[in-house]
Amino acid sequence: ERIVSGEADIDESSLEQSLRPQTLKQYIGQDKVKANMEVFIEAAKMRQETLDHVLLYGPPGLGKTTLATIIANEMGVNIRTTSGPAIERPGDLAAVLTALEPGDVLFIDEIHRLHRSVEEVLYPAMEDFCLDIVIGKGETARSVRLDLPPFTLVGATTRAGSLSAPLRDRFGVLSRLEYYNEAQLTDIVERTAEILDVAIEPNAAIEVARRSRGTPRIANRLLRRVRDFAQVRGNGEITNTLCSEALELLQVDSLGLDHIDHKLLKGIIEKFRGGPVGLETIAATIGEEAHTIEDVYEPYLLQIGFLQRTPRGRIVTELVYNHFHMEIPKE
Ligand code: ADP
Repeated sequence: ERIVSGEADIDESSLEQSLRPQTLKQYIGQDKVKANMEVFIEAAKMRQETLDHVLLYGPPGLGKTTLATIIANEMGVNIRTTSGPAIERPGDLAAVLTALEPGDVLFIDEIHRLHRSVEEVLYPAMEDFCLDIVIGKGETARSVRLDLPPFTLVGATTRAGSLSAPLRDRFGVLSRLEYYNEAQLTDIVERTAEILDVAIEPNAAIEVARRSRGTPRIANRLLRRVRDFAQVRGNGEITNTLCSEALELLQVDSLGLDHIDHKLLKGIIEKFRGGPVGLETIAATIGEEAHTIEDVYEPYLLQIGFLQRTPRGRIVTELVYNHFHMEIPKE
């Protein structure tokens, strides 16, 4: 398990549940998304209508599930949660839809992984709040229309580009979540420390934030590991010294990069003189799948300007040489 992965660990979910902010006010950062959502929610409530369908997209761990829960809370309705891979057949989705109460939020995580056949059930449901069911077979088959209670679909995806156009077009609100800055992550670390009832020195909170790759899930995870360390090696308080020691042991560097990032970046420098080099070639040299590199390792490296995508392949930037104290090669 990679400590700096944005994906949730299997044993993490119940803990995360307790750390989730419940209202828009408690939700730190994402100011533009929040401001828009506030207006949409207020307007829907004034008109006593359901909220438009919302698509949330962005890297894992940035707060999509959290925001879906908050939307339901702020609208004063229940949330039903499922995911693209969990809905295998059209009938599964029909069962979920017919069980909704008026106004409910239906949250579908990883919505880009819905089967096409399931997606087709979703179109009339989203558009007209109804379900077209075919009964009978062959010659006698006929289609029956079933009304559904009005609901709000909140979809989440890490790959907005993989969503089919007809599905994407049926969302009224498309919100992209951004990586968090250091100040916002520091607030999140301090908030979590308070919930976990652990004291943390201000600079230690900043240090954890800095190594969290712009991702609240990673910030919370690092904080928990550092807390363990402070408990065993100290008296429980996360002091600056204990925090630095713990982060050193966890092998997460000052920018939140781990050994896989190092292998990837140094591989491009040492074997390809810094690039450009094609994704497939990188994948072969470091022994990872190309799509794993693209989906998991690359986004943050692109975000901090360590990697650039060019038509001829990936190149590492000067920032990488500086970070590793390496000399920039001359042409
Ligand atoms: P995603 O669904 O995008 O993978 P989650 O909503 O599950 O991410 O968030 C992961 C963790 O990060 C949650 O435990 C949540 O408490 C925390 N978190 C996410 N966004 C925020 C935020 N804006 N403010 C405070 N905590 C957050």
